[in-house]
Amino acid sequence: MLPFKLIYSDEYYLPIGQHVFPAEKYRRVHDRLIETGIADSSDFLTPQPASDQDILLVHTPQYVNKLKTGTLSALEELQLEVPFSPELVHAFWLAAGGSILGAEHALKDGIAINIGGGFHHAFPDHGEGFCMIHDVAVAIRRMQRDNKIRTAMTVDCDVHQGNGTAAIFAGTRTVSESLPSTGPPILGKHPLMRGTHAGDVFTISLHQENNYPPLKPPSSIDVDLPDGITDDDYLAWLDNALSSGLRQFTPDLICYIAGADPYREDQLGGLALTIEGLKKRDELVFRVAKTQSIPVMVTYAGGYAQRVEDTVTIHCNTVVAAKEVFGT
Ligand SMILES: [Zn+2]
Repeated sequence: MLPFKLIYSDEYYLPIGQHVFPAEKYRRVHDRLIETGIADSSDFLTPQPASDQDILLVHTPQYVNKLKTGTLSALEELQLEVPFSPELVHAFWLAAGGSILGAEHALKDGIAINIGGGFHHAFPDHGEGFCMIHDVAVAIRRMQRDNKIRTAMTVDCDVHQGNGTAAIFAGTRTVSESLPSTGPPILGKHPLMRGTHAGDVFTISLHQENNYPPLKPPSSIDVDLPDGITDDDYLAWLDNALSSGLRQFTPDLICYIAGADPYREDQLGGLALTIEGLKKRDELVFRVAKTQSIPVMVTYAGGYAQRVEDTVTIHCNTVVAAKEVFGT
C-alpha cells in the first residue's frame, strides 16, 4: 500500500475519437500500476465531478453556460482542438473534481497524484489546446475558499507553456519584494529565464520556447528552453527555477504539472529528455517539496509519445518517484 493516494476514474477517458491525445492513457496507467504491483486497488480514490460553483471560481458564467448548453461557436470549438460533446464536458468536470480531491489529500499526506488533469491551456473565458476547464486552478481556488490554503505555487513541466495558468493568476500579481541579489540565477539577467512577481499564486513554467502557445502570457517565472535540451541541462534549469521561486515565495501547496511531453520521442514536443531524465525531474520536484515540508498535488497534463507505451511508462514513473521519495 502506498503512503499517499492516487485519484482516478474510468470516466477520465476523453471521448474525442482518433486524436493525437491518447485518451485511453489514464486507464492504461491505472492498469499498469496495478499489474506491476506499484499500487493496489486500495490506493485509488474515485472523484466526484466538481460542482458548477467550483468551476465558477475560475471560469466565467458565460463560458460555463456555453459548455453546459452546447453553444460554443465553431471558432471556439476549433480553438479547443477536441470535438465538443456533453460527455466531454462531464470528463472535464470530473478531472477538476479529481484535482480538488487530490489537493485535499496532498494536504493530509504530503502528496497526492491525480491520474489525470493538468489542463493548463484553459482560460477563464475559453478553452484551447485540448483543455476545456483548468482543473488545477479550480482546485487551488477551492482550497483557498475552504481556508485550507492561503497560497499556492504551480510548477509546470509540460513541454508547452502554461498560458492558461499564467493568465488566470496574473490578476493576483502584485509589485512586491525585490529580486535576490546573490546566488544564481538572477531572474531576468539570464537569457532563458524571465520573471515577474505573484500575489497569492506563484506560477513557474519550464517549456520549449519554439512551441505552442505562440503567445506566452508571463508566468511568475518562465524558463524558455531551447530546442533539443537534454536531461542534465533541463534538471539544472528546473533546480534553478525551484530555488528562485522558493526564495521569493512560500506556498502552502505546490501543484506539479508533470507533463510527459518533454520526452525526446514526443510528437508535439521538441525537447530531448529520456524516460530516466523525466523520472529524475519528478524526483527533484518531490525532494524539494518534501525537504521544505510543502504538500504537492500532481496532475499529468500532456504526453504524445510515438508509442503510447512510453507515455504510460513516464506517467507510471511519476508514481514510482513519489513512492521512493515519500515512502521513506
Ligand atoms: Zn503539453
